[in-house]
Amino acid sequence: MTGGFFDFKRVRRRLRSTVTTGAGAVDSVDRILLRTQSDQGTGYGEIAPWPGFPTETIDQSLEFLRSAQGNLPHLLAAVDASPEPLPCLSAALSSCRHWDAIAGFGGSLPSAGLLTLSVMETDAKVAAGFRTLKLKISPETSEEAIRGVLGRSACRFRLDANGSLELQSARRWAEFARAHEQVEFLEQPLPVGHPGYASLGPDKIALDESFLTPGGVTWAGTIVVKPLLAGDWDELRAWRREHVGPVVYSSCFETAVGRQGALWLAAQDAHAGTVGFDTLGRFENDGRDRHAPGPAAAGLPDYDWASFWRELT
Ligand SMILES: [Mg+2]
Repeated sequence: MTGGFFDFKRVRRRLRSTVTTGAGAVDSVDRILLRTQSDQGTGYGEIAPWPGFPTETIDQSLEFLRSAQGNLPHLLAAVDASPEPLPCLSAALSSCRHWDAIAGFGGSLPSAGLLTLSVMETDAKVAAGFRTLKLKISPETSEEAIRGVLGRSACRFRLDANGSLELQSARRWAEFARAHEQVEFLEQPLPVGHPGYASLGPDKIALDESFLTPGGVTWAGTIVVKPLLAGDWDELRAWRREHVGPVVYSSCFETAVGRQGALWLAAQDAHAGTVGFDTLGRFENDGRDRHAPGPAAAGLPDYDWASFWRELT
């Protein structure tokens, strides 16, 4: 590639209802959509940090974008030279670089359904065809409540604590997961870097916030990868080829551009299994979701991304 330009648009997306994770309540998120143009063609990518994940912020990404003044080689050089890792910006640039392949992706991956603790919601997800469901848990969640949800279907369950538990309750939930065949894993029970992970052990314990990018941590249990937070995608794929153990790909509430790229990336992994992309319909109707919701997370081949870009305001 020689030369090249880029431009970007910052958008704010308001959630229909507050999403509460271990990192607190989230009402809206900002995203930056990136477009690159070079002799390799046009590429699109998305910078989509998510609360609780130790990446750069939207404002830090903006500094890099503004200082490169639309010059793509300058931006790439600045990202390479950055003393701090820039996982969101690196992922967005990977998406731009692979956009031809990404835009052509029309495959489909089974997705887990994302639940709150509403019984009616569980039944609706089962009726919609989801075979794996994901529940958020917190220090206030009772085992009885989860047992009640488990008893309503034959689905597999993923329990995500988003790092909110103390070691003692993490141990109890780990035992719970191991005692219930229906529970696939307990995700991020303890905060990032908590020494208690060594004593919990990898059996049915998944890392999400603690993983972020290859090289961040070694773990024999399940690793959750959020493609838009995972840094350079070629490095991620190289890591995946070497890594033994299950990897689950997961959304961070990206727009259609980020979703198309993240699904493409997940589909490059022959052992991708069930992904976590039941994040559509969560925002106010802002026209930035374009994929179909449901238990099969499918790409949008032959989509007119130039129109999508033009319509972004
Ligand atoms: Mg998680």
